[in-house]
Amino acid sequence: MVVMKFGGTSVEDPAAMLRVIGIVKQQAERIPLVVTSACAGVTNELIHLSNTVLAGHEMQAIEMLDKLRYRHLGILGELVSKENRPKSYKFIDEIFQDLGNLIKGVYLLGELTNRSLDTIVSYGERLSSFILSIAMEETGLPVVLVDARRVMITDKNYSAAQPLLAQIEVRATEVFQPLIDEGKIIVTQGFIGSAEDGSTTTIGRGGSDFSAAIFGSVLGAKEIQIWTDVDGMMTSDPRIVLDAKRIDVITFDEASELAYFGAKVLHPNTILPAVKRNIPVRVLNSKRPELEGTLIVEQTTAADQGNVTSIASKKGIIVINVTSSRMLLAHGFLSKLFTIFAEHQKSVDVVSTSEVSVSLTVDNDSGLAEIQKELEEIGEVRIEKTKAIICIVGVGMKHKPGMAARIFNTLASFGINIEMISEGASEINLTLVVDDQVVDEAVRVLHKDLF
Ligand code: ADP
Ligand code: ASP
Ligand code: MG
Repeated sequence: MVVMKFGGTSVEDPAAMLRVIGIVKQQAERIPLVVTSACAGVTNELIHLSNTVLAGHEMQAIEMLDKLRYRHLGILGELVSKENRPKSYKFIDEIFQDLGNLIKGVYLLGELTNRSLDTIVSYGERLSSFILSIAMEETGLPVVLVDARRVMITDKNYSAAQPLLAQIEVRATEVFQPLIDEGKIIVTQGFIGSAEDGSTTTIGRGGSDFSAAIFGSVLGAKEIQIWTDVDGMMTSDPRIVLDAKRIDVITFDEASELAYFGAKVLHPNTILPAVKRNIPVRVLNSKRPELEGTLIVEQTTAADQGNVTSIASKKGIIVINVTSSRMLLAHGFLSKLFTIFAEHQKSVDVVSTSEVSVSLTVDNDSGLAEIQKELEEIGEVRIEKTKAIICIVGVGMKHKPGMAARIFNTLASFGINIEMISEGASEINLTLVVDDQVVDEAVRVLHKDLF
């Protein structure tokens, strides 16, 4: 079997859904398990309308909900036959009735917990998967819609729930496997799951990739396909670098560095479950399915290992500088410093140290005030917001002397100031911190020079 994950833009309207059905049909004999995201923009809309009603604007939220209802009915209407219309319209109406009640609840209570928000946003995936499954059925494919919450068991960390792999494996064997054995094409949701008490959870924004990788790995899929709106993993974000090129083959390590540092095309956690079971992951364009996409493998052949593979970037980074004269020749300083971050469960992305100071980056300001207070007990603290990370990745970089110098020179010649530098121990990435305002330009000039 293979897992095929379709992102929001791949199911955004009737034409996109029909393309998906064509893609699934073509590989029907490989027994695909189809994992779908919500239609493009729907998760954002659901979050937005929840916050709108929380702010007391009930009518506005109801209008937004109505718009969403019409959008989904519109997509369904174009894909479903006359006979199936009444029962499928009824399903959509029931979903929106539930959603309306939930929204009303938020309004009345004046409270929106992550737990209720997870339930509300889960309807995005539940709607798209329902429509896709009905439309697929109409074309004669042996489709079964399975609620992912029966399989994706997670902890109760609502909005960023952690999947519980051992339990997911058991559920996948019980729920998915018999259907796969019968040759059925399963359509299910990405992103959503349930805690052991049955409450609905979500596994973090962009999490459908992660769902696909988890399902693929527990089922021992032959391949995991991530279908999206670009030709594959590119040499840079095509929205920033217009002439970015498709990468044929990339290693798991390179792809995870890129995903982590801003290449939104893949959710950062996706790769791990697939790597563990050595399952190839392929990123493909649902608008141009004839292309080969990008294959993510454990190792590439030596011939490919000569150069930089790709450049990623991430804005909204915060740099924390801690200086301490006491650090000179003192021991235990770094350990104290990192303990503070660990105790606040704050993940640090880039670190660079000198004899008397440490700079590190985090990607959001939650808990920052308390962290700052505690850091001030061990040194002088300076916080700089509006920074960005550039991550240059390539397995070949470690054998290429002069690469860093070339990168620094290129940026210097455009007057771009580098504020932090860090090279991972794996030597496959060079990470730089620059000002938010110049990061796009920096990526473009580096791309021009390196590719
Ligand atoms: P989906 O809805 O299919 O999950 P996403 O929007 O999450 O799609 O991811 C696809 C987007 O990722 C692309 O449209 C592209 O702008 C962005 N992206 C960022 N970096 C890269 C990269 N290196 N290669 C390809 N796409 C990238
Ligand atoms: N629909 C969810 C989101 O927008 C999950 C995903 O698309 O991967 O974050
Ligand atoms: Mg995505």
